Amino acid sequence: MTTLPAVVDVREVGPRDGLQAEAPVPVDDRVRLIDAVVAAGVTHIEAVSFVSPKAVPAMAGAAQVMAQVARPEGVRFVALVPNVRGAEMAMASEVDELTVTISASPAYNEKNVRMSIEESLEAIAGICGVAGGAPVDGVVSCAFGSPYEGEIPVAEVVGLGERVLEAGAASVTYADTTGMGTPRRVVELVTAAGTDIGFHFHDTRGTALVNAFAAMEAGVARFDASVGGLGGSPFAAGAAGNLATEDFVAMLDDLGVETSIDLEAYLAASAIAAQVVGHPVPARVATAGPRTRLAG
Ligand code: ZN
Repeated sequence: MTTLPAVVDVREVGPRDGLQAEAPVPVDDRVRLIDAVVAAGVTHIEAVSFVSPKAVPAMAGAAQVMAQVARPEGVRFVALVPNVRGAEMAMASEVDELTVTISASPAYNEKNVRMSIEESLEAIAGICGVAGGAPVDGVVSCAFGSPYEGEIPVAEVVGLGERVLEAGAASVTYADTTGMGTPRRVVELVTAAGTDIGFHFHDTRGTALVNAFAAMEAGVARFDASVGGLGGSPFAAGAAGNLATEDFVAMLDDLGVETSIDLEAYLAASAIAAQVVGHPVPARVATAGPRTRLAG
């Protein structure tokens, strides 16, 4: 068997990417969910997004969320920001890191943030300028294809990632927004970009977990995952949720790959997620329980 990373950094994105795809959840319930996943051992969490509440009602109240959540030592809180104003608000809320998105698909970028790729690169440079010491992670969406342009050559995707770093980002995450990634394509991307990257997988075609495994075999150790597998995109047809944190952690535990997350405690947090969104979550381990759980 090939060597897997000893430790994997799981960036929990449920409170942002997951809840953004749901009807608005009140601030108190978002805080309860964030506190629960952090109590279960999550140490890296995209908790909020400082976007216009008119554009994204589900993310309104980001400053209140940040003011109310517990901030234990060693837990890195991340905010997604679309522009300099959002970045300034995020820094005023004392977040530890920022994420910015840019799409490998120009048409998707236009629909999602109403900017050209060049304008988005300028926005990223501006955001990095006001981030101070906070690292900015550039998330390249549609990294495995676009609903508008179809296939996007790997060299183009990785070339955009390099321009994001040149604009001042500290790191790059490649996101399979449309669920078009496959293990073969994941390895192809890692071969072109190197292993010092993050991945953000969606389960639209049932490939989130196998893509994460392929990426780990190729040497990647940074992954986004969402509580309950919540998430999706309004601009990608049939976009199912993100890689579910509990499914990923269950697999990592069995492989002996270390995370900071306790699966049983995390499942209690996942139950809170189902409660606050008002429907069952798609995560398989949330439904079936851990593989060693006995009947009765
Ligand atoms: Zn996502």
